[in-house]
Amino acid sequence: LADLTDRVAVVTGGARGIGAAYVRALHDAGARVVVADLLEDAGSALAAELGERARFVALDVTDEDRWQEVVADTVEAWGGVDVLVNNAGIANAGPIEHYPRAKWDAVIAVNLTGTYLGCRAVVPAMKAGGGGSIINISSVEGMRGSTHLHGYVASKFGVRGLTKSLAVELGEAGIRVNSVHPGFIDTEMTAKIDPSGLPIPLRRGGRAEDLTGTVLYLAGESSAYVTGAEIVVDGGMIN
Ligand code: NAD
Repeated sequence: LADLTDRVAVVTGGARGIGAAYVRALHDAGARVVVADLLEDAGSALAAELGERARFVALDVTDEDRWQEVVADTVEAWGGVDVLVNNAGIANAGPIEHYPRAKWDAVIAVNLTGTYLGCRAVVPAMKAGGGGSIINISSVEGMRGSTHLHGYVASKFGVRGLTKSLAVELGEAGIRVNSVHPGFIDTEMTAKIDPSGLPIPLRRGGRAEDLTGTVLYLAGESSAYVTGAEIVVDGGMIN
């Protein structure tokens, strides 16, 4: 799907779930991959399994200073950053009367501010390298309202908007910025949801591997003229 030989990719939330599938797919396509996550054990194990073209770094995406260190270390080790997948995310829910500010702040901090900090941290390195591809993982919940998911929906709409403004600003630097909008994907985040009740035309819940083709496409040369796009991968659910 893409030849990413000698490219350097950073995947946040890469230790498990859909992020780990992105890590494996980018690695299989030839890239050197930084697995950036809070989960040291799972992230280190994945990087060790993949070998010398993978490394784990401990990162809380809400930590601005740590982002600078991660990018500097990556540039030092591997010479640059070509691809950033802002995938780390959390979800919470509740009716608005029982949706306290702490929940709102937490989901905005990780999903939206974490994405902003990641973009901001890699842009100088991408400019120095002559361009790059930033892939921001939003959600179908960044395209419609959903009961109880107030902070999550707001954060994912925010990721979609940030993607658009960065695409406009960074085009002349050769940096493409696109968003991906998964539907229901079977991971720990969605463990309590039964997909059989969802209106999915393709008649099944998604798997992490259903997203990897889209991320490889956006990371590689096949999407050289694609920026500011939003790609929905949801089995047709929000048609
Ligand atoms: P997951 O909970 O299985 O994995 C999330 C990963 O992000 C974990 O490894 C976690 O440790 C990491 N993470 C969380 N907070 C972090 C932080 N502050 N700093 C660094 N890493 C952090 O979830 P998933 O289902 O694999 O979701 C991945 C992304 O896809 C998220 O952005 C999610 O919102 C989005 N998404 C998921 C679905 C779905 O149905 N699963 C649908 C649409 C969008």
